[in-house]
Amino acid sequence: MSPARSLLTGAVQYLKGVGPRRAERFAQMGVLLGRDLLYHLPHRYEDASTVDSIADLAPGADATVIGTVVSKGVIPTRRRLRVFRAVIRDETGHIECAWPGRPWLDRTIERGDLLLVSGPIRFYHGRQMQPREHTVLARASDGGHEQSPQAPEAADERPSGGRIFPVYPATEGLSHRQVRAVVEENLPALLAELDDRDPLPDAWRKELAIPLLAEALATLHQPTDLAAIESARRRLAFEELFFLQLLHARARAQLRTEVRGIASRAAPIHTEALLKTLPFELTNAQLRVWEEIHADMERDAPMNRLLQGDVGSGKTVVAALAMLKAVESGHQAAIMAPTELLAEQHLRTLTDLLAPLGLKPVMLTGSVTGKARQYALDRIENGRAKILVGTHALIQGKVKFKSLGLAVIDEQHRFGVEQRRQLRESGQAPDALVMSATPIPRSLALVLYGDLDLSVIDELPPGRRPIVSAVRGPESRNAAFDFLGDQLAEGRQGYVVYPLVEESEMLEARAATTMAASLTERFTDFNVGLLHGKMSSAQKDEMMRGFLAGDVDLLVATTVIEVGIDVPNATVMLIEDAERFGLAQLHQLRGRVGRGAEQSYCVAFHAGKTASERLTAFASTSDGFALAEEDLRIRGQGDLFGKEQSGAALLRFAELGRDRDLLEDASHRARAIVNEDPQLANPKHKDLRHELESRYATREALYQIG
Ligand code: ADP
Ligand code: MG
Repeated sequence: MSPARSLLTGAVQYLKGVGPRRAERFAQMGVLLGRDLLYHLPHRYEDASTVDSIADLAPGADATVIGTVVSKGVIPTRRRLRVFRAVIRDETGHIECAWPGRPWLDRTIERGDLLLVSGPIRFYHGRQMQPREHTVLARASDGGHEQSPQAPEAADERPSGGRIFPVYPATEGLSHRQVRAVVEENLPALLAELDDRDPLPDAWRKELAIPLLAEALATLHQPTDLAAIESARRRLAFEELFFLQLLHARARAQLRTEVRGIASRAAPIHTEALLKTLPFELTNAQLRVWEEIHADMERDAPMNRLLQGDVGSGKTVVAALAMLKAVESGHQAAIMAPTELLAEQHLRTLTDLLAPLGLKPVMLTGSVTGKARQYALDRIENGRAKILVGTHALIQGKVKFKSLGLAVIDEQHRFGVEQRRQLRESGQAPDALVMSATPIPRSLALVLYGDLDLSVIDELPPGRRPIVSAVRGPESRNAAFDFLGDQLAEGRQGYVVYPLVEESEMLEARAATTMAASLTERFTDFNVGLLHGKMSSAQKDEMMRGFLAGDVDLLVATTVIEVGIDVPNATVMLIEDAERFGLAQLHQLRGRVGRGAEQSYCVAFHAGKTASERLTAFASTSDGFALAEEDLRIRGQGDLFGKEQSGAALLRFAELGRDRDLLEDASHRARAIVNEDPQLANPKHKDLRHELESRYATREALYQIG
């Protein structure tokens, strides 16, 4: 092995005490290189800085001690309870520990193990502790080296770095103690190689009050006091947030420089006309967002903007203005919905809005066929069709636009990543506006969609009647259904929604079916419809249309009901087993009512005795953004990234709730750097660029759009 060989960039296998077998196990945890080991941080710490001496323990006290197991065994008691006992010893004396009813510990605790135990001390043939918790801090049989698994001296050696014991994420065949031993043995050399190299500029550390990288890593692996851990964690959190924002900023910049977009700047004939004919004034939030979009569209570079707003906040009008701006500049504009039904709804809305302007939207979906389809295709190609409405079929396949200036993607919650990619690949660079009715916290948006510009409508049009929301237990079901009956009798419509659990779609379908049958009996004067995932899309479509037309009064549905469907006459939403829904989903469901002039109601039923924190939050506010923040707080970020989002693995050290300040700062710095030096070609950005390319290359590929 040449001395110049890098431990940091070399395989973990060649580190001390690893070898091929352990390397495989490290690999399972994503630790491939020496550097990965540095970043494989403890997930918790045992604070033994306040351990008691065994000699001092007195019955009645609650204590924490560290000692070596000198004898152990399982002893049956008279009451047939099997008790695992171990005697442990420190420099001052010994004490018996007893674990009643846990005989299996005999297999996990060995003689010679260094054990940390805490629990109450009592008097039982001498002093005895019944540990509430125990951790094997060191094990005789672990050894530090793979080659010599029996190294006996390990047992009595306390980990270096003081009295705080790091506990590492482990995996089958590689215990947290073995990981710790490997880290301990290699940390000095790894840190020495890292030296004082730090990808972040010196000045930032002072501004942010964070330590040097090597210092932070040393603290996190071998803390001497718990207080230092948090500032070290923030150091790593900032680093990962910053590089993620740098990736986003570069993706945005690349789009702006490499792709020539379409500049829409002409006399505002249509947009002005629409603003004049609207029967209402735009809200301040709508005006602000329209200005942001307006400015984007006048630039040469393509717009890439996410428009977030709660259900009913008035996104459609803003989208219509943007479409008109493209048209008055001589281009076409298209709006795409995830389903045909939603596309039809957009067609109706836009047809009404644009009629006074003498503009007629053209629809193209899978069910437009034959001559009508050819006609539409021709007009799209020769440019006579200006405003297009459709499903994603509009930008796939053989549709040729004369000049597509703007694509509005109404994605609800899928954010149109795939559609944006397709647009880029088709060689066109129209402005893209992605609309989402699922509010997410700004912090989450920055992490997941930082490559998009963000516009938020955070204000509802005036005069809206808030939906009356309630959370009720099983005892109130009957009353709630009576109330539903009253509403139906007044000519309103309603929903009863069941949660859908993927593994048991069949079961849920059956539950919904049974419910629909019993409600049909209960509400004999009304039409009860049923909608569930086991129905064909044609059947579902027909049922939805029946509800839209008012032929169906009450719709019993699993969550397949369309996210964006507007039925102004629907005023009641009952949600069964509401704990099984996420907050965002509950809020989405509630958004199906309250779309008309009448007062609307939403009741979420909980199955158990009391309502969860989440349900209580749900009933207490109708502000989607507030709920999204609450959701982030309650569930934590891991859950919110969702299965399909590549974001799950993105944040290892940062916590969006706690580190919001760091995130904003990171985003700010990243954008400033990329604005000044998009290629990071300036020598002063060499370290940043190197770090980005060596550590975040795979993420860059993941996040690149186009
Ligand atoms: P979203 O698409 O955000 O759910 P919509 O654009 O469908 O919301 O708007 C919901 C309703 O509110 C529509 O009937 C629309 O005409 C109306 N609306 C939109 N903006 C305003 C406003 N500024 N003042 C009053 N009503 C508005
Ligand atoms: Mg809408």
